[in-house]
Amino acid sequence: MSGSASSDRRDDDRDAQAVLTIDLDALGANWRTLAARAAPAECGAAVKADAYGIGIEAAVPALARAGCLTFFVAHASEGRRARAALDAAGLGARIFVLNGFHPEAADFDLYRAHGLDAVIGSAEELRAWTEARAAAAGERLPDAALHVDTGMNRLGFPVEDARFLSQAELQGAGISLVMSHLVSAEDPADPVNARQIAAFDHARERALKALPASLANSSGVFLPGRPAYDLVRPGYALYGGNPQPGRPNPMRPVARLDARVLQVRQVPAGASAGYNARWTAERPSRLATIALGYADGVPIGGSGIDGRGAEVFAGGVPCRLVGRISMDLSIADVTHLPAGALKAGDTVEWLGPHADVDALAARCGTIGYEILVNLGRRHRRHYIGNGTGT
Ligand SMILES: *Cc1c(COP(=O)(O)O)cnc(C)c1O
Repeated sequence: MSGSASSDRRDDDRDAQAVLTIDLDALGANWRTLAARAAPAECGAAVKADAYGIGIEAAVPALARAGCLTFFVAHASEGRRARAALDAAGLGARIFVLNGFHPEAADFDLYRAHGLDAVIGSAEELRAWTEARAAAAGERLPDAALHVDTGMNRLGFPVEDARFLSQAELQGAGISLVMSHLVSAEDPADPVNARQIAAFDHARERALKALPASLANSSGVFLPGRPAYDLVRPGYALYGGNPQPGRPNPMRPVARLDARVLQVRQVPAGASAGYNARWTAERPSRLATIALGYADGVPIGGSGIDGRGAEVFAGGVPCRLVGRISMDLSIADVTHLPAGALKAGDTVEWLGPHADVDALAARCGTIGYEILVNLGRRHRRHYIGNGTGT
């Protein structure tokens, strides 16, 4: 009755209703594109939220092989996973934990044991981190970045507080980097960019001046005047998102999701499709039922109702979703395809070279970041490349 692990895996492969293909060479190529653009600044990588949904265990070694030496995660537990993946591949890099040091949540030993550097964003965090380091003195201690809030009002020291930190305070906490985060980097016309750069420079006029600095996320790398400082921290663009909305996307797609067609049916004019009959055929229509629903990370906002809706691509041809997306299924109108062009067992593309993540997100009423981080846990995942190929 019980199959071996490999035969179970073969069965799962045969059953795969949706296949997520992650191109690690495209990921590495995107990192190199951003690194060339940011040079002479160093290019790091944001790999929080399971590397934006593509899988931190695969993404981190691939990026390190491409040349990345500095990673940013949100949680210390993500940092531990990133470190384990690097160790397993025999690679080394710095790992910063963006959400800060909160001794009630994660103790200092977690940082020390896994070589994680904290991103310190308040006086309380600075005090706790400094005390923990002092108590562990004599051992190899993790460093930290100092986060200055220049307008996000989320994490980070107020500019005027950061500005007056002393050399001794910075040294006690092992501060090796000063950083801030842009509010609207994807909109180069927004005057908040220049205000944040000025505030960051103001914070760095005194003791912080001697430290390497970091400000830019993906879109920040493309801002005019390029506020790259010493280190950039792209995330979204690494995974194929467009860092310059409204302009041609210089990044390569990394994730591709293909889902199986389960049935194709003919319906008469006046027939409805899906829960609550939110779509009605205006003409005799051919509908394809696809094995992809909101449990697979398809936003319900992409439902084909009220004249809106996401598309899937059949052989590169867009086909609009109709009716409400269900948990495991969605329905596409394929009337415009030649009869027989799409049949049960074929696959359609939900995300990939035709289905650009930003265009898809716009059709779903969300942002591409959310599409990526919600890539489901149920599809069969295939990783191709290793970060070094072209
Ligand atoms: C997520 C994050 C980044 C990366 O941002 P992208 O827009 O994905 O490039 C950089 N810095 C901080 C502080 C972040 O939280």
